Amino acid sequence: MSERKRILTGIRPTGALHLGHYAGALENWLDLQDSYDCNFLIADYQVSDYADDIKHVRESVWDVALDWLAVGLNPETSNFVIESLVPEHTELTTWLSWFLPLGLLQRNPTLKTEMDGFGKKSVPLAFFTYPVMQVANILMPRAHLVPVGEDQLPHIEMTREIARRFNRQFGDIFPEPDGLVGRVPRLVGIDGQAKMSKSLNNAIYLSDDEDTVTEKVRQMYTDPTRIRATDPGHVEGNPVFMYHDAFNQDIEEITDLKERYLVGKVGDVEVKQKLAKALNTLLEPIRIKRAHFEQNHELVREALEIGTLRAQKQAQDTMELVRDALGLDYLKKN
Ligand code: ATP
Ligand code: MG
Repeated sequence: MSERKRILTGIRPTGALHLGHYAGALENWLDLQDSYDCNFLIADYQVSDYADDIKHVRESVWDVALDWLAVGLNPETSNFVIESLVPEHTELTTWLSWFLPLGLLQRNPTLKTEMDGFGKKSVPLAFFTYPVMQVANILMPRAHLVPVGEDQLPHIEMTREIARRFNRQFGDIFPEPDGLVGRVPRLVGIDGQAKMSKSLNNAIYLSDDEDTVTEKVRQMYTDPTRIRATDPGHVEGNPVFMYHDAFNQDIEEITDLKERYLVGKVGDVEVKQKLAKALNTLLEPIRIKRAHFEQNHELVREALEIGTLRAQKQAQDTMELVRDALGLDYLKKN
């Protein structure tokens, strides 16, 4: 392994990527990919909520890889990894689950929120093991840094705890990784819900075309207390302005819109048109790059293959350390 510090981070193959991924995670990955050894993981073991739609999961593996290439992640220097093609992840998950107290899992706030999402549907056992697997994902390349959205921080805290417990008993094997949250820790959905999410169907995708983006912005949730354009409006907590702050490069335009909005001198239509324009400016180069890779499928396949192969090698090295530490050489001849 090289002397550079390592990053592990990932995304579930449950759909194409959206603006929340971009501002919450991908931007940081792009900034850091030249100074760290990076593993970007497509976490296909962790989609038990999509068990009845494996086809969608399989397609989403490609969507995620396409989006990564489209935003400019470099598969030559960073590893694009398909989780289940490195089966050591399951082995490490099993060992690490020894060191994860159930109480710690039950207190994890992200898990609680996600659990509510199941509603009346039964919760698969795999839902309770996915956070342990995420710990295994991070510890496998012995990562130092994990750039993620805010909702993932409780999982990283758990990872640190498990690394500490393991190291205390078996020697210094795993670095205690730090989390790193992006410029927008948690982007709200276009419907005003707390988080833009593939599963909540409230996302603007990096691959949405210009008209789709404009239409989604037109329908965006805004200040519900404002009936007419002449009513003074609220900027704080207004998703349309949150998006302006997050994605519009023209600061003067934002200031002007906010000033006029507060005193009832601009309609939602104009504020939204300007937002749609800013978003399309951001997304256009990404769309063009994506289209290039869509037409060159073999480049995407190669990116996934080469990264996964490198990760397999890393995983074998780590598992050797772990097996040594645990003393699993039962059958060694004296
Ligand atoms: P799902 O609803 O299927 O869980 P998701 O949109 O939450 O999908 P994940 O694959 O779970 O996506 O998350 C990938 C990464 O993107 C994580 O680091 C997560 O924190 C980050 N992320 C996802 N949505 C947002 C958001 N709205 N704001 C900021 N970061 C986000
Ligand atoms: Mg999620």
